[in-house]
Amino acid sequence: MDEFDFIDKLQPKRIFQPNVVVGIGDDAAVYKPSRHKNQVVCVDTMVEGVHFLKHASTPEEIGYKALAVNISDIAAMGAIPRYYLVSIAIPSNWAEQDLLELYHGMYELADEYEMDLIGGDTVSTADKLVVTVTVIGEVEAHVQTLRSKAKEHDVVFVTGSIGDSSAGLAILLSQLAVDNKAHKEYLINRHKRPTPRVRAGQIIATLDRASLNDISDGLASELHEIVEASQLGITFNEADIPISEALSELKKSNDITKWFLYGGEDFELVGTTSAESWDKLKMACDEQSIKITKIGSVTSSHSSVQLVKENLEMIFLEKSGYNHFKG
Ligand code: ADP
Ligand code: MG
Repeated sequence: MDEFDFIDKLQPKRIFQPNVVVGIGDDAAVYKPSRHKNQVVCVDTMVEGVHFLKHASTPEEIGYKALAVNISDIAAMGAIPRYYLVSIAIPSNWAEQDLLELYHGMYELADEYEMDLIGGDTVSTADKLVVTVTVIGEVEAHVQTLRSKAKEHDVVFVTGSIGDSSAGLAILLSQLAVDNKAHKEYLINRHKRPTPRVRAGQIIATLDRASLNDISDGLASELHEIVEASQLGITFNEADIPISEALSELKKSNDITKWFLYGGEDFELVGTTSAESWDKLKMACDEQSIKITKIGSVTSSHSSVQLVKENLEMIFLEKSGYNHFKG
């Protein structure tokens, strides 16, 4: 594979953002930051065999997810994604066609959010594919949806439904059998093609104050990050956790807590805000058909995450449980 030829094929056919001054093709990209906005930057790496298995996902799905997980971090800052860069280390068993398909997976999301690919790096590697995506977003300068912004008596909320992604992974790893075909596809899809919650993040950014985190490592872990950063506690109710139809079906014959508490990779948003702002948030989300659910409240109990079980038993949750094949 010819590196220069490959990079040529990555040259975007159109540029969405008028602020791109120099895109792919020079030593570095140049863009003009918008006035009165802060720039928000994040980077995430996916390694073959660790974050994805080549035989279990198509290149398109791998590309989609590599960009989606970064957009999710931008959403958790209440920001809008604008630009992205891709560094890729390519082993010899990946054909150029596979790589172009991987980029197509990213284009699907980039088109949806009108993001521009403005650069990257291409190197070869001995064994496993490594793809590193950097996303640059923008947020109104006064908005800070930080983990440290929780206050006592805040409402704790979560978008979408929780636990689907890790149940989907269990299916892919042949650790879970699901007979219902539609449910099986739904769960696998939630794992391979997570939806970053940019619109929900935008609404949350309009509130007077909110703490916010995206669910990459599991609900218990993300709640711990909020209570540690805010030096407070959280208590939440198992009965209120939003669970999909597919997961509630599995509940009859499986212990699903490992998925919705510790599973991770749902890329939903979890956060806290005042009771008054919660009412506004809920109403705004309902208007736009965005699922958002109140699951608990912020307490003064320093750094403790407490779950009230369906049988009303109270348990303190550890930060981490299952860490799938991250090892
Ligand atoms: P340099 O040698 O100056 O670092 P490169 O030849 O690596 O430049 O890259 C040329 C152009 O192609 C740059 O704009 C770079 O950002 C872009 N580019 C290189 N690899 C990739 C990639 N995998 N994805 C997107 N853009 C890339
Ligand atoms: Mg280079």
